[in-house]
Amino acid sequence: MSQAKLQIDFKVLAHNFSYLKSQLRSSTKFMAIVKANAYGSDAVMWSQTLEALGADYLAVAYCQEAIALRDAGINIPILVFHPQKEDLENLVNYDLEAAIYSLEQLKSYRDYLIKSDKAHLSIHLNINTGLNRLGIKKEDISKVIALLQNQNKLRLKWLMSHLAASDDLAQLSFSEDQAAAFEEVCHSIETELNQAFKKHLLNSSGIFSLTHKQYDMVRSGIALHGYSNLEHIDPHLKVVAHLKAKVTQVFNISKGEYVGYNFGFQAGNDMTLATVAMGHADGIDRKFGQKQNQVFFEDTALPILGNICMDMFMVDVSNTQIKAGDWVSIFDAQHNADLSAKSIGTISYELLCAISSRVEREFILLEN
Ligand SMILES: *Cc1c(COP(=O)(O)O)cnc(C)c1O
Repeated sequence: MSQAKLQIDFKVLAHNFSYLKSQLRSSTKFMAIVKANAYGSDAVMWSQTLEALGADYLAVAYCQEAIALRDAGINIPILVFHPQKEDLENLVNYDLEAAIYSLEQLKSYRDYLIKSDKAHLSIHLNINTGLNRLGIKKEDISKVIALLQNQNKLRLKWLMSHLAASDDLAQLSFSEDQAAAFEEVCHSIETELNQAFKKHLLNSSGIFSLTHKQYDMVRSGIALHGYSNLEHIDPHLKVVAHLKAKVTQVFNISKGEYVGYNFGFQAGNDMTLATVAMGHADGIDRKFGQKQNQVFFEDTALPILGNICMDMFMVDVSNTQIKAGDWVSIFDAQHNADLSAKSIGTISYELLCAISSRVEREFILLEN
């Protein structure tokens, strides 16, 4: 283990969950997204907590992620956004639901299930309305309908789509167009199959920017962590995870000396440095080096000097009383991952997901 800690406060998660719920109709179901180890946190702990809080659904990207949750005893429905052909048996055996995003996938699942003695599979049909990532295109809908008719092994439960820019209020009309396109496709499927289906469209920012399109369920990942991607909403959410690392050495250097690999920094004055026990192997992006970012000791900002190493980095502590054994904050409620991300041109999601398994996870549980 590196000497770094991700402190995860599930009471704060409970706050974010209830704030999100307060923005929705009471009948709207809530799907919590726990893919990628719950955005770099701990998927099992998040899932157990969210199940206890009353989330209706969980979702992950890949089948193995869902199996790990079932193995840990998670009972609520789990949707797999991006299942592969070879996952079909596991999807059925582990009682998972599958997003269907292509005709080939639909056909392969259908043909296999019809021939086998396996039970049915519940599916969510993912409609591509402009993100152009995964999803069935409008022109293929009649083929989808034909494949779903006269069989009962693939059970269509939900219709879904995904917004491309729900966090960009300047692009709201694009989001509205996506919702309209989604409704049009839903309508033709419902007419042809002579049955109504439940629907979900909104991700975290969509919950706030396109609330009137919440349909029967919303899907939220990042907002549960305390980041809405919307400035006017962030004050209502709280940051769940704080990232800290230990100072292992404090030392002086003289004017003119270099710091770190490849002379990444040269001291313009005599100064005091500290070595922090976390590096790019732990998820600290090398772009944070060369004073592009800072960490915090109490309220003092400590600029990162030179290049980030694999296991550590150096900061300027000239104006502090910091000593070896103290902890610095990489991000917390005030200096959050969204701000850090912006300083290097990325998004909170990327920083959170990058926190490696070498970083210890520490939990504040709901009932403490
Ligand atoms: C990851 C993902 C989400 C969650 O998005 P957030 O912005 O984190 O709320 C929702 N839907 C789909 C299809 C996703 O892939």
